[in-house]
Amino acid sequence: MTDDALRQEPDLTALKAKLLVWGRELGFQQLGVADVELGEHREHLARWLDAGMHGEMGYMAEHGDKRWRPDQLVPGTRRVITARMDYLPPEVETTKLLGQPDKAYISRYALGRDYHKLIRKRLTTLAKWLEAEIGPFGYRAFVDSAPVLERALAQRSGLGWFGKNSMLLSPKAGSLFFLGELYTDLPLPVDPPFEREHCGSCERCKSACPTGAIVDDKVIDARRCISYLTIELKGAIPLEFRRAIGNRVYGCDDCQLVCPFTRFTRASPEPDFAPRHALDRAELIELFAWSEEEFLERTEGSAIRRIGHQRWLRNIAVGLGNAPWSPRVVDALEARRNDPSALVREHVEWALAEQRRRAPTLLAHG
Ligand code: SF4
Ligand code: SF4
Repeated sequence: MTDDALRQEPDLTALKAKLLVWGRELGFQQLGVADVELGEHREHLARWLDAGMHGEMGYMAEHGDKRWRPDQLVPGTRRVITARMDYLPPEVETTKLLGQPDKAYISRYALGRDYHKLIRKRLTTLAKWLEAEIGPFGYRAFVDSAPVLERALAQRSGLGWFGKNSMLLSPKAGSLFFLGELYTDLPLPVDPPFEREHCGSCERCKSACPTGAIVDDKVIDARRCISYLTIELKGAIPLEFRRAIGNRVYGCDDCQLVCPFTRFTRASPEPDFAPRHALDRAELIELFAWSEEEFLERTEGSAIRRIGHQRWLRNIAVGLGNAPWSPRVVDALEARRNDPSALVREHVEWALAEQRRRAPTLLAHG
């Protein structure tokens, strides 16, 4: 008997039913099973890379075939179990905060503890429960990992469709969720791909994008996207985007917040995703005053930490430049005029010039 035939021995349909129940017990809102046929995404990705839309994210161009060939990334992979975990904490403001330019807007996924560890741990527990049921099998868990086309896998496993904002949209849950994947050699029954695209004639995300980064349906020019500019970009934020960034100091959610499907978002029960240090409503001035030690201490275990203190100050300086004129804002910026980082100093000068431009006439000329 071949290995494959031996593998058929467990009742895979019954096993999959258990898997779905266990997934919910572990806090996932939805699971699906995809095959490993991702070839159709190869051309789309190649065109995007050729156009240079990935900016400085060189890792997007790496890994070759491993992206659309899960069996090359993890040899023996036959299925990918995809898992969705909603992240919006209860009772946090979203769009209202964007209208309060003295406050900092941090992408709502980044308010609490870093999700990577939590989701990987839960996926590994799921694999261990499967192992206890059927014996050893091959698996590997991924969360937001460069060589994994997670949205494509989620679409293939029936979790949702690609919205025009390029996010994976669930008809039941919008798009404010994390995705994780368990690559496995178990030939579980697959779910049908989510074929129907429900965007229809809606264009809300495209009109709402502050920097015009959605250059075509499902195509984001990362070099214009505020998430990229505030998180991935290491150097100076191009002048042409600084005003449009407003008070968004870490990421941007606009194209998701305006999406009609976002109304189906359900609050996450995970305590790990709850905002830390009142980051859901903090004032720009308050965050700008954090020393490097305070930054490191307060962002420990948070996704924000990876941008480092300099880029944190760079981003907040842009926010302060866009804030209404006030002596407090000017004082806060003045206090960082001699910051050791040239990057920070340049953004502070820009912000001070913006503040002066907005100052009451008497003071501006006085
Ligand atoms: S995240 Fe913001 S900047 Fe990026 S595409 Fe969406 S709306 Fe535009
Ligand atoms: S805002 Fe409209 S077009 Fe954009 S992703 Fe949502 S439904 Fe689709």
